[in-house]
Amino acid sequence: MIDIKNLTIEKAGEMLQNGEVTSVDLVSVCLSNIEEKNKDLNIFLEVFSDALEQAKKADEIIKTGKGGPLTGIPIAIKDNILISGRKVSAASKMLEDYTASYDAFVIKKLKEAGAVLIGRTNMDEFAMGSSTQTSAFGVTKNPIDPSRVPGGSSGGSAAALSAGMALSAIGTETCGSVREPAAFCGLVGLKPTYGAVSRSGIIAMGSSLDQIAPFGKNVRDAEIVFEIISGKDEMDSTSVNSIPENFSSSKKTIGIPYHLFEEGVDKEVMQNFKESVEKLKNNGYKIVDINLPYCKYSLAVYYIIMPAEVSTNLSRLDGVRYGLQKDGGNVSEVYKNSRSAGFGPETKRRIMLGTYVLSHGYYDAYYNKAWKVRHAIEMELKNVFKEVDFILTPTVPIPAFKLGEKLDDPVAMYLCDIFSAPANIGGVPAIALPSGVNSLKLPLSIQFMAPPFHEKDLFEIGKKFEEIK
Ligand code: GLN
Repeated sequence: MIDIKNLTIEKAGEMLQNGEVTSVDLVSVCLSNIEEKNKDLNIFLEVFSDALEQAKKADEIIKTGKGGPLTGIPIAIKDNILISGRKVSAASKMLEDYTASYDAFVIKKLKEAGAVLIGRTNMDEFAMGSSTQTSAFGVTKNPIDPSRVPGGSSGGSAAALSAGMALSAIGTETCGSVREPAAFCGLVGLKPTYGAVSRSGIIAMGSSLDQIAPFGKNVRDAEIVFEIISGKDEMDSTSVNSIPENFSSSKKTIGIPYHLFEEGVDKEVMQNFKESVEKLKNNGYKIVDINLPYCKYSLAVYYIIMPAEVSTNLSRLDGVRYGLQKDGGNVSEVYKNSRSAGFGPETKRRIMLGTYVLSHGYYDAYYNKAWKVRHAIEMELKNVFKEVDFILTPTVPIPAFKLGEKLDDPVAMYLCDIFSAPANIGGVPAIALPSGVNSLKLPLSIQFMAPPFHEKDLFEIGKKFEEIK
């Protein structure tokens, strides 16, 4: 029996190449895990009926010796990434019956690489949330402790990998939506530099913040997927041609902004973080205290800019052009009835907030000011990276919380992203790494940030941390 929960892509790739297993074997194990547990955990919104067909094709390619590192690997896709001819709902009633008319750039890349797309995973509605509880199709449970959330908004993709229902998984980030579920499910999560991976073909949330991002059981697995999905795409003018060759194993200085940890960091998270810092110190890394006064406002800036972009991006879902349509006596009523019925409460909250900060009379006070602070945060990060190679923080201030918790307190939910926000606001890459467990055996995690396009440095330090942790 294949131990799929502990099998990495790298190992599976070797086994496929030397004929020890076939893609059909790997996909069959994932499908039987889905069959056994998906009803309870609610991870997949749809399992693709042609997954085994795709696996057979991949096996043919492998036989000819033309396979690559992802050929035949079953991969779970977050339900806000377009796959031509398949449904894509962003876990919203608004798009429940919507079918994608083209492939997202990353999907094209994954198909070219011969990966097996196994299904689409549950998420917070339109990626708004930190727990996968705002999905219109029910909550996803954390496979490690089903009384808890898997994190969000890419909770379904993280849970699929953690539960052995796929060997790889893709999510999206606007502010921590891959790093946070990676932390709650004991996985690696990479948030690439803004522009490193094309956003063409994702259902936009906050366009100046959104990123497609891979999960991995280890750093190498996240790196393999990143290498395949990154690169310039004509359909996204913010994507870049290539990742510069910036790798150097001499990068050793780590800055820690302890002043950002003032509020609400769980005791065991803090203890684990300090132990991780000691291990890095004992292995030759230089640790320095840094001050990031503007980064303190990252989350506040995020909750102005993101809703503004949400209100604009979601205006196309009007019941006429796309999505659910509810009748009305005139066109305004059609808009109102369709949007009232199609959107859930969190989505409505953000549309209202975004419309407010963009409205005449408030634009300067909120939106414009937030952009100025965003620029100050970008400059602050740029400057600090002249002194240090990495910034280190816990990934999330708390471990996975109970289902139902924080649902009636949006601000408490928003605070989960306190350490995620600077990387999205500043456009820099960051990686979440498992760093141990707490007394309840729940996974804990630390995150490194690096200068733009220094993903290779993150992989290098991540692999080092895997060795010493
Ligand atoms: N928790 C964040 C939010 O609710 C994350 C969103 C995201 O990264 N997609 O906005």
